[in-house]
Order: sequence, then structure tokens, then C-alpha cells
Amino acid sequence: MNMHALLPDVSAFLDNVQGLRIGAEKIETAEHLDVENPSTQGLIARVARAGAREIDLAVATARAALTGPWGALTPHDRGQLIWRLGDAIEENKAIFGQLDALDNGKPFHIARDVDAVYSARHFRYFAGWPSKIEGRTIPVSVPGRMNYTKVEPVGVCGLITPWNYPTLMVAWKLAPALAAGNTVVLKPAEQTPLSALFLADLALKVGFPPGVLNVVPGLGMDAGAALAAHPGVDKVGFTGSTETGRRIVEASVGNLKKVSLELGGKAANIIFADADLKRAIPGAFWALFGNNGQSCTAGARLFVHRSIRDDVVRELAKMAEGLSVGPGMELKAHDLGPVVSAAQMTKVLGYIDQGTAAGAQCMTGGARQGETGYFVAPTVLDNVADDMVIAREEIFGPVLSVLPFDEEDEVLARANDTEFGLAAGCWTQDVSRCLRMADGLKAGTIWTNTWGDTDPASPFGGMKQSGYGREMGGEAIALYSQTKSVWLG
Ligand code: ADP
Repeated sequence: MNMHALLPDVSAFLDNVQGLRIGAEKIETAEHLDVENPSTQGLIARVARAGAREIDLAVATARAALTGPWGALTPHDRGQLIWRLGDAIEENKAIFGQLDALDNGKPFHIARDVDAVYSARHFRYFAGWPSKIEGRTIPVSVPGRMNYTKVEPVGVCGLITPWNYPTLMVAWKLAPALAAGNTVVLKPAEQTPLSALFLADLALKVGFPPGVLNVVPGLGMDAGAALAAHPGVDKVGFTGSTETGRRIVEASVGNLKKVSLELGGKAANIIFADADLKRAIPGAFWALFGNNGQSCTAGARLFVHRSIRDDVVRELAKMAEGLSVGPGMELKAHDLGPVVSAAQMTKVLGYIDQGTAAGAQCMTGGARQGETGYFVAPTVLDNVADDMVIAREEIFGPVLSVLPFDEEDEVLARANDTEFGLAAGCWTQDVSRCLRMADGLKAGTIWTNTWGDTDPASPFGGMKQSGYGREMGGEAIALYSQTKSVWLG
């Protein structure tokens, strides 16, 4: 197999990967995380693993930076540093691309040209915010008094990120947290800590004061739980599973820290009979198979009008069979890589078996692909019923479920019959129907005749058990800020 050679900078980074990034220091730990390459099952690196003691140190360091050099920066200078970090990410996009391709397994060209480039843009968007975070003067009805508001940072933010987009999910949280003036302790997912560690080194290089960004890889139940419970952390920003989100809320009660959660999904994607199928079929296909189905917005429940269902399913299966699946670092530019871990592969294959046992029809895929690496053949299941476990729980893998429907009212009710509410969408050439669905679907993002678009300027987040708080746009600044009301007499 022909693989990309490791870039010299990536080799040099991996040789020096040791140590938690706390302040300007690299702190060694007694225990370590073995970072595995899911494409080869080989060991990439052994990185430091934080426990409660190291979380204490990181939080104290973030606090010192907040009340010290970071808090003293002007909005202009804060924005300039954030912009520089965006530029540095883009300049080093091949390094980020290789690191994410190595520990997540996603194709290098996608990690470099999509994940890294969009991360850079995220920082550039938020770089403009520090000088635009304004309070108001309020016309209060108290004679002789003036009242105004100040918008201040929340303080020390604990950011806990998942493995599906190792760089991008960090960018989504870190850029607004910094723009709003906070300092950060970041715990990346234990499977994919490499690009976050590299980012910490880069932040120091572009001139961030030490302690503004501290990166502490570790296990969820250990470092993650300690961060979520820490009395010195003012806010936790979390992306991950709904189950872990609940644990984080429980852990946060001690000091009533602010919490924002971007959790699981089970998005309904509806193809009406009048859809432009030339766009709807590939759109619905990539809505699920993009990032190997490992997105919380994956269009996992594909409702297809019964009159077009056979044609649509046939075409989806054909597309799935045409996908190129292979190691993230292979020279050949694959469409998809492996799923992230052995545990994830077992879980995904278990769901497929459960679905077919319950009566779903496997049109293609349905099994592991190859013997090395955690590859799951892209799978299309037809005849999925609303009450099957595979139609209710998040699979987070390359498994597309097709559910037939007959009427608009019926499909709207079925689409909303889920505990999740992150994303939903439909394909139809009837604009009035687009608007009706946008009103009726209960989800934080609605895509009509498109899927998966996000933009740093447009708010993103979940209804129902998909979480609370909105990332991106002005909403994200609000999420990482608090308002103070000032009276003058
Ligand atoms: P998955 O089950 O797919 O790994 P999680 O939601 O468990 O997804 O993981 C997302 C992030 O949450 C990771 O960084 C993980 O380490 C962290 N995490 C897991 N459990 C906890 C916990 N109890 N407290 C805090 N963070 C956690």
C-alpha cells in the first residue's frame, strides 16, 4: 500500500509529543495514553495522560493567565492573536491533516482541505468579535440613575471535545471562548489528542500568553470528569454523546458552573416525491456517509416517499458500492476511512445485526471490510421501521436507514418522534412545503434541498436532548460571556 510519507514537521512533533501543555511547560505524567491508528491498528504515539492533579494545575494556570496577561490585552490585540492562530492553522494545514488522518483515520486530503481549512476560518471569523462585544445603556425608570451593561468573559472554560472532527470541534469552541476573553483548559478525546497538542504549541508560537490555552489529554471518566466537577472552572463547553452530557451536567452542580452541550442526534432527512432526485439522492447519501457517518448531524433516518423509494434505494446502494474506503494516510484519495476504534466498529456492526434481525433489509454492506483496521463496509438498510432500535439510537457509523412514507403530515410527525433535535431536513421543489417543514421540524438546524452546511456566522446547536446553547455566530459569544448590569447614582 502506498502511504503518504510523514511530513518532517509531523515526525518532529511526534518525537516531542510528550507532556501535557500547561502554561509554557510540557508536564510529564506517570500514566500515558496509547494513541492508535484505526487504519492500521498500529501505535502512533504515547502521550501524557492527565488525572485530577494535573487538571488542578491546568485550572490554576488558566486562572493566572485570566487575571494576568490575557485579561490585560486590548480587544484589538486579542483579536489579532486569534487571527494569527487562524493563519497559522492554514499555513500548517498539512500537519493538522496528517495528525487527524493518523489518529482519527479520516482521509488526509479531507482532514487537510476541509477540517483544517474550516478550523482556520473559524478563528478568523471570531477574530473580528473582541472589538464588537458591546453592552447597552438601558432607559431605566429610576429617577436620577443611569444603567448600563458590560459583557464580560465567563472566566476559566473547560472544553471537552470528541474524536469525530479532532481539530474542527476544538476550533468551534476555542475560537469563541478566546474571542470573548476567557482562558481555556481543553481536554481532547482520548482517541484523538494529537492535533490539539499541536495547536497548543502553535498558540504559544504565534504569541498567546502561556496559560491561555492549556491542553490536557486524558480519559473521560478521569480527566474529563475532574474538569467538569472542578470548582475553579466557570464553564464547561462539551460536544459528545447525550449520555456523557448528562454526566457533565451532574458533575457541574457543585459550583453551578455554566454548561453548554452539543450532543447526539438522529436526524430525519425527507425526500418528497417532487424532489429533484439528481440533487436529493447524492445529497441524502452524503448527509449520512460524510465523515463515515460519524457526525452528530448525520442524516441517519432517510424518509423516502413510497412512490420513488425503489429507485432511490437502488441508487443509494449503487453509490455506496462505488465508494472508495481505505486508510487515511494512503496516497489514493479515499472517500472514507475506518471508524475510529475497535469499540466503535463493534458497536456499529452490532446495530447492523440488530436491524436486520428486526426485519430491516440490507441492500449493501453490512459487515467489516478487510481484516486490518476498523473498516465497516458502507451499509444501506431498507424497510426500517420507526420503533426499531436502529431508528431510535445514534449509530455513528456508515449505516443509512431508509424508511418509506406516504403523507406530509405523517412524515412530519414521524420525523419529530425522537428524543433528539439537532438537525433535520427535506428535499422538495415546493417552496411552501420547505417553509412548512422548516416551521414544523423540531431541530436546531434545518436544511432544505441541501445538507451539512455550517458557517461560523450561523448558529448551531440542539433542541430536546441534543443539548443546549448555540455555537457559532453571535450566539457563541453570548455562550462564553456574562452580562453585568451597572448602576450610577
Ligand atoms: P464516545 O462515547 O463516542 O467516546 P463521549 O461523549 O463519551 O463519546 O466522549 C466525548 C468526550 O467526552 C471525550 O473527550 C471524552 O473523553 C469525554 N468524556 C467521556 N466521559 C466523560 C465524563 N464522565 N466526564 C467528562 N468528560 C467525559
